[in-house]
Amino acid sequence: MRKYAIMGVQGSGKGTQATLLARDLDLVHISVGDIFRWHVQNHTKLGAQVRRTMRLGELVDDELVGSVVRRRLDDHDWNYGFIIDGFPRNAVQAEFFLESYDIDGVIHLDLPDDEVRRRVLARRLCSRCGLDYNLIAHRPGNESRCDVCGGQLVSREDDTEEALATRLRDYYAKTNPVLDLFRRKEFVFTIDARPDKVTVQQAIRQRLNLPPYVKPSDG
Ligand code: AMP
Repeated sequence: MRKYAIMGVQGSGKGTQATLLARDLDLVHISVGDIFRWHVQNHTKLGAQVRRTMRLGELVDDELVGSVVRRRLDDHDWNYGFIIDGFPRNAVQAEFFLESYDIDGVIHLDLPDDEVRRRVLARRLCSRCGLDYNLIAHRPGNESRCDVCGGQLVSREDDTEEALATRLRDYYAKTNPVLDLFRRKEFVFTIDARPDKVTVQQAIRQRLNLPPYVKPSDG
């Protein structure tokens, strides 16, 4: 059983790296941001509660986040473990996390601010199937259509200069101190997130003593 959290500034590739790791190791990938986006897209009560906060790039209330994470982990569908992405983001959430689950490691993806801005503003999402694109590193054949399902590619509502500034400010003020807390427990594995996704994935596996990543033959 393996229990990891993956942390890093916006655009550092948390979702991409967590997906690759989860697929190979049979971990359940839990993205708090994806859970919230699903609720917003499906117009649920929770979606209505978090939509404005998300659009502004602000953090959702801790109690709400805690209950979403607890509910998701209470499903106990993670026989081989989990990797949680986008959580914890401040000291209150970190305490809840440490008290409730004995984690094996925190993967910290490190990316300088100028690269964050470049990546985030180039990020696109398929409005139909949810596939992630990036106009720099993972270009779609047609800039406005999904290569897989043909759905329209859109920017995330919070991938704007203003929301990004808020998210970066929160990251340095609230999330970075959480890393210090985890560092004291010697949980943190800091990885340079600048290289391409496969290089970053290999670096993560090396640091965590996991089997190397093998690229699927279908690409
Ligand atoms: P992400 O996809 O991780 O960038 O999350 C998108 C948005 O969801 C964030 O900007 C927050 O508004 C909200 N969110 C996700 N995870 C958390 C969290 N752990 N605490 C508070 N808000 C969160």
